[in-house]
Amino acid sequence: MDNPFFRFKIGSFDALAICDSDEGGINLLLVDTGAEKVLLDTGVGRDVTDTPAPLMDRLKEAGIAPEDIGVVILTHADFDHIGGAVKEDGKLAFPNARYIISQAEWDYWQTKPLRLRQDIDYSEAFRKMEEDTPKRRLAQLADILEKVESGAEIVPGIQLIGAPGHTPGNSIVAVTSGGEKLLFIADLFYEPKNLEDPNWVSEYDGNAEQVIATRRRVFNEAVREHTLLMAYHLPFPGLGYVSENGAGWAWQAKEIAG
Ligand SMILES: [Zn+2]
Repeated sequence: MDNPFFRFKIGSFDALAICDSDEGGINLLLVDTGAEKVLLDTGVGRDVTDTPAPLMDRLKEAGIAPEDIGVVILTHADFDHIGGAVKEDGKLAFPNARYIISQAEWDYWQTKPLRLRQDIDYSEAFRKMEEDTPKRRLAQLADILEKVESGAEIVPGIQLIGAPGHTPGNSIVAVTSGGEKLLFIADLFYEPKNLEDPNWVSEYDGNAEQVIATRRRVFNEAVREHTLLMAYHLPFPGLGYVSENGAGWAWQAKEIAG
């Protein structure tokens, strides 16, 4: 892709959106608070799919060493969010970082759940990747992972907020500085048209009732407060706003200078 980076400010914080794919649709955020570099989600990683994710190369290109990352926050443990947390050799991708996940997400995966619906005919390879990667990565991270409750302030200005439904411990991240706010909403929706129906549920959402309630809470508040959102799987960088639209919402992508 032409430019896999987008730099912007959230108050006094420097934010860098990074595309962790050559095709787009995997939007990571690095927030530099001045005191700490905080990475929100880690992409697919290099040993999970046939198309290794470029995150580590992109960070290098941006002049950031893996050792510079002080905090890694995982919104949930699906492979495309946790895969890049650990390298091919089993070592931490970010050796100096605190790694954060919600207690509820940790607890969920300890029950060895079946993540995917059984009534959908996924390929064996996809099913294996989706089911096995989170369990493997969480085991690799077990000694270092900090499990936190919803509402925990991870560093000043960055807060993990429970957004259950997609998975039981799914979270979003609020980044607040100087009166400005961004909500990193990860997989709350995939395409703008998903927002039209407030009862829309993805085949990857584990609990329909919960996810509908979560979307309603997050999007209604984002409309009221005109909050800048960043969605993980939209075309890069996935920044935009929601507005009221009939019973549901509409997406307005933020204009970014090319
Ligand atoms: Zn995802």
